[in-house]
Amino acid sequence: MPAAQKISSGRLYIGGQWTDAAAAGTFTTVNPSTEEPITQVAEGRAEDIDRAVAAARQAFEGAWGRMSAADRGRMLWAIGDRIESQSAEIAEIETLDSGKTITEASRVDVPMAADCFRYFAGWATKIEGETVPVRAPCFGYTLREPLGVVGQIIPWNFPFLLAAWKVAPALAAGNTIVLKPAEQTPLSALRLARIAGEAGLPAGVLNVVTGFGPTAGAALVDHPGVDKIAFTGSTSVGREIMRRGAASLKRLTLELGGKSPNVVFADADLDLAVRGASNAIFYNKGEVCTAGSRLFVEEPLHDAFLDKLTAFTSRLPQGDPLDPKTRLGPQVSEAQMTRVLAYVDKGRREGARLITGGERAPGKGYFVRPTIFDDVRNDMTIAREEIFGPVLSVLRFRDLEEVARAANDTPYGLAAAVWTKDIKKAHRVARLLRAGTVWINTYGLYDSAMPFGGYKMSGFGRELGRHGLMEYTQTKSVWVDLS
Ligand code: NAP
Ligand code: MG
Repeated sequence: MPAAQKISSGRLYIGGQWTDAAAAGTFTTVNPSTEEPITQVAEGRAEDIDRAVAAARQAFEGAWGRMSAADRGRMLWAIGDRIESQSAEIAEIETLDSGKTITEASRVDVPMAADCFRYFAGWATKIEGETVPVRAPCFGYTLREPLGVVGQIIPWNFPFLLAAWKVAPALAAGNTIVLKPAEQTPLSALRLARIAGEAGLPAGVLNVVTGFGPTAGAALVDHPGVDKIAFTGSTSVGREIMRRGAASLKRLTLELGGKSPNVVFADADLDLAVRGASNAIFYNKGEVCTAGSRLFVEEPLHDAFLDKLTAFTSRLPQGDPLDPKTRLGPQVSEAQMTRVLAYVDKGRREGARLITGGERAPGKGYFVRPTIFDDVRNDMTIAREEIFGPVLSVLRFRDLEEVARAANDTPYGLAAAVWTKDIKKAHRVARLLRAGTVWINTYGLYDSAMPFGGYKMSGFGRELGRHGLMEYTQTKSVWVDLS
């Protein structure tokens, strides 16, 4: 595993230095397609978080705080360039650690991460205040200032890309960072730290503390020296972070789970919608917060659609994620595989009809066969809870109002999609769906410029675009007496 050996394993990145965890603990990160250990990673705890926050504060009050916006932008651009020039290695690290296919890692995750740094590089010089026509004989203006030290906690499904989504806008706005990657996939965040150092980012601006959620993560959330927590992960941990963050009144943005409806009308382009529905649930082996896990098909199209979808699914190559032909890798961990299979059992027991899949693939690795359940009712567990695996629930509907109601009958509101050739119907449904993103005749598109985030229990705050940038700023009003 040449790429894995090139990482600075076993160490934290604090204040521009690679350092052991204070308690000298380490943990193993595992390749989910072979079940073999990849390497040891430092287990950071509260005292390491303390050191990282101190380094971040010092950088914020020092070199980084004094740097011009133009120079900050240049640094972000340089990080984007380095991501691009190291993209093959980063993609390999990501595939080894997470089980996502090398095709997805190299064509999507890594190039989008580079793009994200370049996009926000451009923003650094465009964060402007306003002049305000106040009543008093005063000159009133506003400044858009960084928050200070930001704690960022990310999950394992898009480890490198989500690190970019969080780090790039925070740096563009002038903050400093303590980043805690997920225990299952810590390696690519360590590579990002190395790249930041190579690009000349001053010491302490980006600190990476690997470790576990209940220790390192919780210490970051509790830390009085951290001004904001930006979190992506499960709704239950999001709720816990909100509760804990109340003690120090942390600013929060939360990107949480989803149970996204994918609505196919009978007048949709059948082949496009079939491919879209498959992609919506099986991309990244279903470990996607926006996965189109509830597929609503209009009654007259149902049988033909399901036949095509099942045939399409049976042709998806599953296996070694390093093989460029593979479309479906293993689940990220044994625990996640077990969780997914438990949902499959529940689906069977609650009376959904298993069409295909529903089992672990034989041999090594945490592979779950792509699974389709038909005759699912919206009140079944598999239609209500986020499974985070390659398990699709198919539901039928008869008209627009009915499907809008059923699609919205979920505590989540991250994303949704609608497939129809009728442009009025498409836009009507887009307005009716209570979700932060709606795709029309496509699924799973993202862009550094397009805001992304949840309605309802999928969280609040936005990432990417101008909205995402603003989440890392605060407004100061300045009054100057002119009388
Ligand atoms: P998770 O527990 O919410 O983990 C996300 C991140 O939060 C990880 O870095 C985790 O650290 C950390 N964390 C855990 N407990 C914490 C705490 N008390 N305080 C601070 N940080 C804490 O998610 P998961 O267990 O890895 O995945 C479970 C489910 O989360 C999935 O099945 C899915 O439903 C959802 N999920 C959603 C998204 C999304 O994009 N919305 C992404 C991934 C997962 P450790 O990993 O080190 O424990
Ligand atoms: Mg791993």
